[in-house]
Amino acid sequence: MIEEIQPGLFRVQVPLPNSPLKFLNSYVIRSSDRNLIIDTGLNRKECLEAMQSGLHQLGIDPAKTDFFITHLHADHFGLLSKLVTSTSRVFFNRPEAELIEATGWWERMIAYAAKNGFPDKELREAIRSHPGREFGSEWVPEINILQDGDEILAGDYCFKCVSTPGHSLGHMCLYEPNKKIFVAGDHILIDITPNIQCWSDDQNPLQNYLASLDKVKDMEIDLVLPGHRRLITNHKARIAELKEHHETRLGEVLSILGDDSQTAYQVASQMTWDIDCDSWENFPRAQKWFATGEAIAHLCYLQKKGSIVRRDERGMTTFAPKESSLHDA
Ligand SMILES: [Zn+2]
Repeated sequence: MIEEIQPGLFRVQVPLPNSPLKFLNSYVIRSSDRNLIIDTGLNRKECLEAMQSGLHQLGIDPAKTDFFITHLHADHFGLLSKLVTSTSRVFFNRPEAELIEATGWWERMIAYAAKNGFPDKELREAIRSHPGREFGSEWVPEINILQDGDEILAGDYCFKCVSTPGHSLGHMCLYEPNKKIFVAGDHILIDITPNIQCWSDDQNPLQNYLASLDKVKDMEIDLVLPGHRRLITNHKARIAELKEHHETRLGEVLSILGDDSQTAYQVASQMTWDIDCDSWENFPRAQKWFATGEAIAHLCYLQKKGSIVRRDERGMTTFAPKESSLHDA
């Protein structure tokens, strides 16, 4: 489905089969000079067909088209390699460009998940069905790095880059101050909440995410163009809801811990998840991966704030409330 949102700015809905996200919103700016495509879809047949047909209907010449990708996740980045041409420029953020260059980070994430209680057999299944492994980009085109505050011109639009780490390490949004449009990627979504995952002790993605929400809160925005689902008109109200959601989540995690010491995987299995599934045992493996990552993000946030403690014993990481650690000591 194609829709003209503003003159020369279109949304192409790219189907994401079997995903609770349903669609990826790809935004296309058509111009007599260079066109710009923001986010692309997974590297799979259904997405490629939807994009090709959308671009064809819009009369977009791929040779005159540049790309901006909000973040590394496969539903945004995966199809890029199938759409770029030798004359395309690709704009992307530095932290995730460095991640692409680095080797061994899947292995490190897998080891980290195991240390946080993810059972071995399930872990292998979760990795096999992870969209990043199944539908990621086959190769990576040359990247033009953008920093916070940099500008991209496309037709009548002059976008300013807004770095918004949290949902991913280097997540970047685009803001058009004259038109008061904010291209949000997965920073702000409605009907669903952006997944915040943590896969390293050194990081605090939830704290980054909350700070990135504050960064956008006071901006003058009439229309948010999110990476999934429907457009958002009241960004302040949505940001307030998202912040409240994480406050509630933090409270839930604390009450699940109770007086116990538990792994993040154990905590995830008791959290409430908005998914069509009757028990944790029946959760799709890939969703268990996202759920555990989200549990770790909340546990790390609480631990770094000093509300709970982390213990690393015999290769396993557990989290415990503060009192019981004092009690043990
Ligand atoms: Zn996404």
